[in-house]
Amino acid sequence: MTNVGNSAASRDKAFYLHPYTNLKTHETVGPLVIERGSGVHVFDDSGKSYIEGMAGLWCTSLGFGEERLVEAAARQMRKLPFYHSFGHKAHDPGIDLAEALIGMAPVPMSKVFFTSSGSEANDTVVKLVWYHNNALGRPNKKKIIARQKGYHGVTVASASLTGLPHLHRDFDLPIAGILHTDCPHFYRYGEDGETEEDFAIRMANQLEQLILAEGPDTIAAFIAEPVMGAGGVIVPPASYFDHIQPVLKRYDILFIADEVICGFGRTGSMFGSQTFNLKPDIITVAKALSSAYLPIAAVMISEPIYQTMVSQSEKIGTFGHGYTYSGHPVSAAVALETLKIYQERDIVGHVRSVAPTLQQGLRRFADHPLVGEVRGVGLIAGVEIVADKVTKAPFDPKLAIGGHVARFAQDHGLIVRAMGDTIGFCPPLVITAAELDDLVDRFGKALDATL
Ligand code: PLP
Repeated sequence: MTNVGNSAASRDKAFYLHPYTNLKTHETVGPLVIERGSGVHVFDDSGKSYIEGMAGLWCTSLGFGEERLVEAAARQMRKLPFYHSFGHKAHDPGIDLAEALIGMAPVPMSKVFFTSSGSEANDTVVKLVWYHNNALGRPNKKKIIARQKGYHGVTVASASLTGLPHLHRDFDLPIAGILHTDCPHFYRYGEDGETEEDFAIRMANQLEQLILAEGPDTIAAFIAEPVMGAGGVIVPPASYFDHIQPVLKRYDILFIADEVICGFGRTGSMFGSQTFNLKPDIITVAKALSSAYLPIAAVMISEPIYQTMVSQSEKIGTFGHGYTYSGHPVSAAVALETLKIYQERDIVGHVRSVAPTLQQGLRRFADHPLVGEVRGVGLIAGVEIVADKVTKAPFDPKLAIGGHVARFAQDHGLIVRAMGDTIGFCPPLVITAAELDDLVDRFGKALDATL
């Protein structure tokens, strides 16, 4: 083996295949090695501190260094580090967490199925939807409609649901039977003279036209994030889902809410479904479920879906789906403690009280020459960078302007995420108003440095 040197950076470049990274650029720029975290800050290996403006990947809702979660994990590891729930086995953390989730679900839900990631949760949902319609004797009602710019993960099925071309290109995706309808981004796709309400109605009409063109008897489900995250923090018009949901009902199409980012307080309600008045049949959650201290995700299903699954077991036996780590007891114990902390500290109330500092703070940049739109709700926000404010023309993609802004932010001690030309903000939910002011100031310096 050639000598790669001892530094973390050189060993990283030599051995580590980075997820979701421009591999060519990485060979030049190398890694930012993060060593530790405390509160809303992380520290790199030179000791420099950063405000983690993205809660990692939209996930460390309680910030870094929450001792109660460390203790919950250690306690459970000592008691029972692993057990599974295949067949008829069970363990207390799994049972308790399922009960807690059903108790807090935004609409009545019947059962919880656990996975380790959001991708696995949405992958599971694709299989459940197919299984459900086979059980109901509707073998042709299998297509699932997702949305352009929606993000649902990277496994074969969940990446197919994701509506971002670079997740499909050269991976031979999407798989058959996954369709994408329009992205409800008024700033980008609203037509001249159209109000937001007109636009929302047009989006619902276009969904209906897609359903009719494909044949309603072939469409099983529709999946949506309440607020699109990785597609560029796209907040739908207020009435968008009010127009979408009756269309789904009309054609007996299941509604899947992907709450992987929005779940557990992010939008200023416990669930994004409450903020936007969604009545889903299936809900997926992950990330803030355990504040990302350990991997765990979940699928919640309604009683009618559960009943068809039970009747299928009567007919064909075992429900043939499950992961070794479904409901891992240590992850479940950490998730339970996380949910307890949300209740005790009234995390939703806290988000509501500090959200205006982020939302109004970022809107200060609406007049900045580089800013096309500032959008967001609760503690999630996006700032879209444009080359021309009047025409909304974007910069040449080769310039990767979002990446430049994010790098200048990093220089100023702030970690944000560039999604194309949109800069995303999704700080830990425990962030204070003073820390949000600091975040906004650092971002302003990054914007000015980009000019
Ligand atoms: N769904 C949404 C809305 C997400 O934002 C993500 C990840 O960012 C996923 C699903 C996939 O989750 P994971 O990365 O845990 O597989």
